[in-house]
Amino acid sequence: MLLAVEGLTHRYGEVTALSQFTMHLNRRDIVGLLGPNGSGKSTLLRVLSTAVKPQEGRVEICGFDAGKHVAAVRERIGVVFQTQTMDKLLSVEENLLACGSFYGMSGRTLAERVRTAMGQLGVVEKRGELVRNLSGGMQRRAELARALLHEPQLLLLDEPTAGLDPVARNDFWRAIGELREKRNTAIVVSTHLFDEAERCETLILLEKGVRVAEGSPEELKATVGGEVVELRARRPEAALATLQAVFELPMELSDGVIRVVASQAHQLIPRLVEALPGEVVSIGLHQPTLADVFHRAVRR
Ligand code: ADP
Ligand code: MG
Repeated sequence: MLLAVEGLTHRYGEVTALSQFTMHLNRRDIVGLLGPNGSGKSTLLRVLSTAVKPQEGRVEICGFDAGKHVAAVRERIGVVFQTQTMDKLLSVEENLLACGSFYGMSGRTLAERVRTAMGQLGVVEKRGELVRNLSGGMQRRAELARALLHEPQLLLLDEPTAGLDPVARNDFWRAIGELREKRNTAIVVSTHLFDEAERCETLILLEKGVRVAEGSPEELKATVGGEVVELRARRPEAALATLQAVFELPMELSDGVIRVVASQAHQLIPRLVEALPGEVVSIGLHQPTLADVFHRAVRR
């Protein structure tokens, strides 16, 4: 087993950041932790990375207890968190060489590891540039190269694309996908963005420190149980009450939008409009998205 988390609870004083959290990872996989700000993603990644000791529960990485065998765990994980770890006044290559020696590598091994990591992250051409002169996206790639030098079995990434523009974010995710192809590395990556979460093989949805759902993006979307009709009405609360009285279908109102789940949504649309004469501002249907999954999981 690469990673086993059992009943992990973490509190900061009165605040429970993680509650009885459990997850298992036993193969090369990209697991996404998806949740809004404050849902406990960073806390979980801090504990997995041994930066913070488990207070309650158990964390095992490659068979080592993360609370007890910190050094053994650190040898097996690579970490990219939101903070910069590179010296901005050194070049990419100098940073990687320094970091590799810190891990105890030297000579030909060190040179080879640095070259391989730079190649896999597409930063070879930038190796002589000072880190401070790189674009945000390139800096993140260089960070990822650094995290791979000691050939970890598990990569922990905490919102690694925070602060990047959409193009750089896309680029970074492509690099993650390629890494997954080229290396035998499992990845746990957190995000609060639904479109990023779509790129993961397995997703764990977090809300207020509680795991509310788990599965592949497709599996999760299938649990919504139909298509989703989104309806905006002049008086949303009144419209919802009317619809609930007429239709026995799952529906909810959030952010001023009524969402109704139905298997034959296109047939339902005219009936919804007729039930709300003069009230409908707009109406449309879509296949379930991760946002729908999240709304639904959190409501339960
Ligand atoms: P996320 O990364 O999903 O935004 P966090 O793990 O950072 O979530 O935070 C989870 C909860 O724990 C939040 O309510 C947050 O305010 C609280 N929290 C996080 N770090 C600390 C800390 N160092 N001290 C006190 N409270 C914290
Ligand atoms: Mg965070």
